[in-house]
Amino acid sequence: MRQIKTRFPPSPTGHLHLGGARTALFNWLFARHHQGVFVLRFEDTDRERSRPEFVDSIREALEWLGLHWDEGPYFQSQRLEIYREYARRLYEEGKAYYCACPPEELERKRKEALAAGRKPGYDGTCREKGLPPGPGRVLRLKVPPTGSTVVEDLIRGPVAFDHRELDDFILLRSDGTPTYHLAVVVDDLTMGITHVIRGDDHLSNTPKQILLYQALGAEPPRFAHVPMILGPDGQRLSKRHGARSILEYREEGYLPQALRNYLVRLGWSYGDQEIFTLEEMIERFDLSRVSRSAARFDPEKLLALNAHWLRATPLKELAEEVKPFLRRLGLPLPREDYLQAALATVQPRARTLKEAAEMLTFYLVEEVEYQPEAARKFLTPEIAPVLERLLRALEEVEFTDEALERLFRGMAEETGLKLKKIAQPVRVALTGKTVSPGLFEIMRILGRERVLRRLKRALNYLQGGAS
Ligand code: GLU
Repeated sequence: MRQIKTRFPPSPTGHLHLGGARTALFNWLFARHHQGVFVLRFEDTDRERSRPEFVDSIREALEWLGLHWDEGPYFQSQRLEIYREYARRLYEEGKAYYCACPPEELERKRKEALAAGRKPGYDGTCREKGLPPGPGRVLRLKVPPTGSTVVEDLIRGPVAFDHRELDDFILLRSDGTPTYHLAVVVDDLTMGITHVIRGDDHLSNTPKQILLYQALGAEPPRFAHVPMILGPDGQRLSKRHGARSILEYREEGYLPQALRNYLVRLGWSYGDQEIFTLEEMIERFDLSRVSRSAARFDPEKLLALNAHWLRATPLKELAEEVKPFLRRLGLPLPREDYLQAALATVQPRARTLKEAAEMLTFYLVEEVEYQPEAARKFLTPEIAPVLERLLRALEEVEFTDEALERLFRGMAEETGLKLKKIAQPVRVALTGKTVSPGLFEIMRILGRERVLRRLKRALNYLQGGAS
């Protein structure tokens, strides 16, 4: 069997979004599953809209997702001669012809057809004229007037397109640049692509491309059209749904393994398994399990998967991942063992690296900032005597979770206060907030010195002194 070869051919006219990333992932997985080759190709023939910064950001996003390409990146803008060569061949063999119809006239006919309720398409005026190339002329493919072309789609099965629905579409524009159809077919052919996996918004392009392969005397690749991704409201996924570029998810503190895991399940399933490691995805991915109906984007599920992968990441690795987020908050980086111990307490709670960094803040600042509401409610003069007693006891006690818990329970009994009545003011003194990881674990990690300093400051604050 021929070596499997897939491709991802983005147009660098924007950043990589979820839809494109899923297409890239499916192509990459299919290639990896079959020990094949994955090609990256930039379809940058639209000089107006293509930008080098989008090339860079798409590459960066693919690399971050771990979707490394084996070949390329190719740039269509550097292959114009190849497309012209193929166009020349089609013309010389009589499979394509030059058309001199002025654009205004085509536009007039198009409007007429629409007004009469007919499908607008080229009417074949120049088809038999035998015109040579010349200024202002476009090259069109001679589509057989009758019959049909069947797309044997690997996901949907056969889909037939009547040739009367397809017109003699353009291959070369009057300025000599190739259209998408010509460039994509020549590329897929010359690069030896065996499987084209793409969004089903391209399904109607496929019969045209198959006809083009046939005109070139070549075997078309296999096609698989993946149903599109809808927003939670059932409409086509767009920015409106908060569907951001892949790199924005990275900025928000998502992990690549979570995004990959989320994307693989958008339209593909394996029983009811939700969590997939990269190895599992590669092993299990195949096109027969791709759904035929549209997938729905669910940001909450993505967040839940991210929380899962965050918990599954070893602390040492997670510490590396969280550092850029700590720096962004302007926090000093502590010693590695302190950071990892602190991180272990927020790991079960944080859903993103950004949240984890925010939750770590109190561990790292010199002085915590009291949330006004928390301070008003818990740092009150009545608690001062309890805090004073605690301060004295904390000079002595061993800083383990058990010893600290014993101390607090003893204190509750002695004062007749509920444990929570003591714990909350201490929590606010230590973290500035009413919600935090377990009190005894944070005390143990902060250590005696920081705990005493923060409790003294809180005492000072609630007694009306400067905070
Ligand atoms: N450049 C096209 C796109 O981004 C590629 C379509 C294809 O896969 O053939 O939609």
